[in-house]
Amino acid sequence: TLAAIRSASSGPGRLADGHAVPLLANVGSVDSAREAAARGAEGVGLFRTEVLFLGAEKAPSVDEQADTYRAVFAEFPGQKVVVRVLDAGADKPLAFLTDQGEENPALGRRGLRALQAHEQVLRDQLTALATAAAASDAEVQVMAPMVSTAEEAAYFRAIAHESSISTAGVMVEVPSAAILADHVVPEADFVSIGTNDLTQYVFAADRLLGTVAHLQDPWHPAVLRLIESVGRAGAANGVPVGICGEAAADPLLAVVLVGLGATTLSMSSTSIADVRAELAQHTLDDAQRLAAIAVAAPSAEAARRAVTDARPLNP
Ligand code: PEP
Ligand code: MG
Repeated sequence: TLAAIRSASSGPGRLADGHAVPLLANVGSVDSAREAAARGAEGVGLFRTEVLFLGAEKAPSVDEQADTYRAVFAEFPGQKVVVRVLDAGADKPLAFLTDQGEENPALGRRGLRALQAHEQVLRDQLTALATAAAASDAEVQVMAPMVSTAEEAAYFRAIAHESSISTAGVMVEVPSAAILADHVVPEADFVSIGTNDLTQYVFAADRLLGTVAHLQDPWHPAVLRLIESVGRAGAANGVPVGICGEAAADPLLAVVLVGLGATTLSMSSTSIADVRAELAQHTLDDAQRLAAIAVAAPSAEAARRAVTDARPLNP
């Protein structure tokens, strides 16, 4: 019907049976937040704060940070904004956080590991976020990158709560965190699966290296099975499970991810309209059926083909 077409081209993300799947944006600047709001994002699922400080020699002050955070939050009154604390290291070194001379920076002291080693930087960022959140109408949540153990998740939630931020989650993008989802998930208020790094680490294939790019495919059942077990742990513990890697921007894969238990999807805002339209074609039962087909496939290519073939035709 016309109403169905209209609701699929704007408004909140939902499946054909009405099941809500909030469509959030990945942003890295005030400008990209403004663009995301204009494109109908229902909030922000990943604010990559390290992008703001890539050239900085020293840690930005609390006031300087709070000003920028306030400007981003102002774009999403009444909506959720998930802020990732600094994810420094590997492809995004920050002079004040990243160790020099690591031989394998993707396996080095990066993400939350670097913040634990420089805890005042983390405390200052959380203070700036709490200050900006208190002065805004957005529903601000914080999230830690590169969490690999349940202890790290517990550490992050405790330090966020100490800084008066009540909702603290963790990214699941290191295989150990996904394998131990039943222990990691209960230590977080929400989790968000970073399919870019999860795929890189599952295949031991640098996500930026062209010669191994064929392995960077989140359709691979090796990745999907881990996502499935995180989805199960989320459902068992009543903990929301978001997806914030590039996988969420692939419309048909987005349906599979919902079938695997994703409760929200976050992506580059340019992809939201296409994902919204595809979700509107499927019920939750249908998404779960497609997900089962994908996880049973022997390869990424086979999963993509089998799901494409099983996709119900447009009404
Ligand atoms: C990811 O790893 O999937 C992710 C969303 O974070 P980033 O791409 O910034 O590492
Ligand atoms: Mg990542």
